[in-house]
Amino acid sequence: NQDEDKLTEYMDELEFLALTAGATVVKRFTQKLTQPDPKTFIGSGKAQEVRDFVKENEIGTVIFDDELSPSQLKNLEREIEVKILDRTNLILDIFAQRAQTSYARTQVELAQYQYLLPRLTRMWTHLERQKGGIGMRGPGETEIETDRRIIRDRISLLKEKLKTIDRQMATQRTNRGKVVRAALVGYTNVGKSTLMNALAKSDVFAENKLFATLDTTVRKVVIGNLPFLLTDTVGFIRKLPTQLVESFKSTLDEVREADLLIHVVDISHESFEDHIASVNQILMEINAHQKPMIMIFNKIDDFSYEKKEEDDLTPESRKNISLEEWEKTWMSKSKYPTVFISALTKQNFEQMKKLIYDEVLKIHISRFPYND
Ligand code: GDP
Repeated sequence: NQDEDKLTEYMDELEFLALTAGATVVKRFTQKLTQPDPKTFIGSGKAQEVRDFVKENEIGTVIFDDELSPSQLKNLEREIEVKILDRTNLILDIFAQRAQTSYARTQVELAQYQYLLPRLTRMWTHLERQKGGIGMRGPGETEIETDRRIIRDRISLLKEKLKTIDRQMATQRTNRGKVVRAALVGYTNVGKSTLMNALAKSDVFAENKLFATLDTTVRKVVIGNLPFLLTDTVGFIRKLPTQLVESFKSTLDEVREADLLIHVVDISHESFEDHIASVNQILMEINAHQKPMIMIFNKIDDFSYEKKEEDDLTPESRKNISLEEWEKTWMSKSKYPTVFISALTKQNFEQMKKLIYDEVLKIHISRFPYND
């Protein structure tokens, strides 16, 4: 039952991603396997089922929640005879649509080419089929080699370009001097931009879609005449494609070089604890897990999953845990200063500001010991 809850959540998230990319989802397919089929990811019976559905309903695309190997992708396209997207490709597509600065666009383009390179043969197979197959192999192979070379050149070029911008950004960061730097981190869609707007009175783009924030935004914030810099970073997500972790290195550098992390959590989301774990995992990966941190549990105005189902009253069922209980649990279990707020209604805002103020002040004083 718990496994099924998880599965539903994963599929909900995938559907949300698909929606963000501009697709409409008409059906979900799931399958229990001890491990994915090395050839086609799903079993052949399931593939047949999907194929029939696709044919009957004139479906344009089938999306998988995992990254498929190049050969799985190829085999699935052959079996289902429709465009196949995997999770990585979908996320890359969303990033591509939303990249606003030339830096973000360069990062996404690099990630896309890195994804494409090992999958080039797939396009060739298509070509072969279209042109009738036999006899096309010679020129086709050459074409692929040429394409590969072009793409490799493009990858080196993009890497160079990113290096140059990285250096510029590093200089900019150094020039910001000794002002305390705080970075908002958190799962995607938890309310980081909304909080940033509320704190900095700026107008950062906030919408109920995944990855509304692609580029980092830095704003000056003043609480009780103590100024500090606040950075809004790209939202973290489960199974973030490795190509993206790599190419968004410098976005993540903002996090790595921050003095204080403000970890925002969406308490109204049923799997907020998994989200916390995913974020902490990425913080570990970029070696930023030992920084001072504040936990902000957001969206308390929208907290409603206690007693959702009247008949489900088992004590361990999280549906029966009240907000007060969550507060108590987290206040005692979190080793970081913790606050429960609503960025929308500004509930407990003063309490949160006081927390941030105290933490920023600690860092500030350690940096300017002779100030007082
Ligand atoms: P980000 O991806 O973490 O930057 O999240 P956003 O700031 O873009 O917010 C995502 C969605 O959550 C938007 O629709 C916000 O209006 C909404 N949101 C943010 N804070 C709150 C809150 O405190 N309560 C409620 N109910 N919604 C919120």
